This record gives sequence, C-alpha cells and structure tokens, in this order.
Amino acid sequence: GELPSWERVDERVFEAYERNIADDRGHVADYIPELAAADPAQFGICIADVDGGIHMAGDAEVEFTIQSISKAFVYALVCNEFGHADVGRLVGVNNTGMSFNSVMAIELNDGHPMNPMVNAGAIATTALMPGETHAEKWENVRTGLSAFAGRQLAMDGDVYRSEAGTNTRNEAIAKLLKSYGRVTGDSTGIVDIYTRQCSLRVSAKDLAIMGATLADGGVNPVTKQRVVSPIVCRDTLAVLAASGMYERSGEWMFEIGLPGKSGVSGGIVTVAPGKGALGTFSPRLDSAGNSVRGQKATAFLSRSLGLNIFASD
Ligand code: GLN
Repeated sequence: GELPSWERVDERVFEAYERNIADDRGHVADYIPELAAADPAQFGICIADVDGGIHMAGDAEVEFTIQSISKAFVYALVCNEFGHADVGRLVGVNNTGMSFNSVMAIELNDGHPMNPMVNAGAIATTALMPGETHAEKWENVRTGLSAFAGRQLAMDGDVYRSEAGTNTRNEAIAKLLKSYGRVTGDSTGIVDIYTRQCSLRVSAKDLAIMGATLADGGVNPVTKQRVVSPIVCRDTLAVLAASGMYERSGEWMFEIGLPGKSGVSGGIVTVAPGKGALGTFSPRLDSAGNSVRGQKATAFLSRSLGLNIFASD
C-alpha cells in the first residue's frame, strides 16, 4: 500500500492542525530547566512520504531538541553495527511498564535495562556506539542522526548545559547499570554523550524525514543515501511498537496502530512502514511525558489516512 493522493494527504495534515490547535491541555517539561522556557503555543505537523514528498502545517520547521526520540535512531545505528541477536540480548525488547527514568525497573529485572527506549536502555545503547573515544562515539552519533535527517544536525548548547548540570538521575542510572556489569568503562562519559544526543536540534520536518528513512527500509527518501539496512528498520520499528511511548505504548497502539517515539521537548515521530512518517511538535505533555496535541494529531492522521497496521481494509 501507499499513502493516499498528494492532495488528500496535504488536506488532512492541515485539518489535523486546525482540529487540535486550540487544545491547551498538558504541561511543558520543567525537570530540565531550559525546557521550561519553550513556547507552549508552538504546534507543527509534517508528513514525509517514501518518495520524498513533504506536507507541512504550522510550526513544522521550528527547531527543538530531539530528546528521547534520539533513542530510536541511535538504536538503529547500533543494530546496524552489531545485529539482531547481540543487541536484543544486551539491551532487551520488553516494555518496563514504568516511567522512562525508572530506577525500580532496573532493580526489578536484575540490572537489565529492559528496552532501548527508556533511559537505562538508551544509555546502554549509546555505550555500544562505535568509536575508540567518547569524542569519536559522539561524532558517530551526530553524523548518524544527521544522515537520517538528510542534513547536518547541530547541538543546542543551552539545553545541553542545562541538562548536564541537573543530570544526577541519569548518572545514577548509568552507575547502577555499571554496578551490574551492563555498562563498562566510564559511565559519566557515556551519560555525557547521551545528554548531547538528546540536545540535537530538529524540526517536525526533520523527524518526518528521519522516520520516513525507517519506513523506506533505511534509505533516506530525500537524499537517497542508505543509512541502515532493511532488517534494522524492521527491528527498530518492532521495538518502538512495544515501548516507544513508554508505559503508554499499549494505549498508543490501540488508538493509532503505528510504531512511534516521543520526547520530553514535545516531539513525536510515527512511522507507517513502506508509506512514510509523521513528525509532530507541541511542547505540552501528558503525565507520561508524551505530547498531548502530537498524540491527537497523529491519531487523526492515522485514522483519516488509513495507516493503522492492524486494519485489514
Ligand atoms: N534527555 C531526557 C532525559 O534523559 C530525555 C527524556 C525524554 O525525552 N523522555 O531525561
């Protein structure tokens, strides 16, 4: 299957924006001080199809920090290096049923990080990035995520410094993983790379193109560059389906029926395999840390464009 016609997709993207612009429920994240300064009114939607077509409404080119959405793409890069079996064993693929920065989830599972979409698993995944030094690993993260986006992504220094200065919980998670032998080497340095990766600046349009690369079997539909293999896309999307929206992944799958990944700055990427991807940006979040308007706009688009992967018609 393909997406509906260009005109129809364009209309629906605009309608998703119009229907949800007035919804002001939820709260901007403030546990990272700099994120509290986000403009809560901002709202952008973009769909990129696997042929490189782009549809945008609202603040689709406004930049924000990628935060947890980076986890999906760093995971894909690591899978591309190490393969299905090793990464599956080391990082896991099961939902924790707990919040993204839960320490309890680690303790209840003998120190295993459980899945790459919670902070513990994401830190364990970043530790596996190729590179002899931390600087090399960071450069590989930045270059890899830029290849998904099809342009050079830059780090937001203010958000990075703000999170790095208040990052005790992620440092504790990394030390706990190290105590169980799940992370080797300098855990503080690994958390620094993780914090940098979360601070890369993207727009809803970038997210749509990054997601469309996963929808397209690993080839960026705009630049035509191969970033990862088709098997890596399949595995990454399976992991997103199970855990991309943390403990709300079941509700998300029930309403939307597509693999997606959220971040605390208000972005969501959602992938329709073989068809394209949606990027949304709206900073007000629900209690699990998922964007309220982003979820609603994505649900509307999944329904009105017939994207639910479980639908038989
Ligand atoms: N950088 C954030 C953190 O580690 C990312 C969390 C998120 O987007 N859910 O807490």
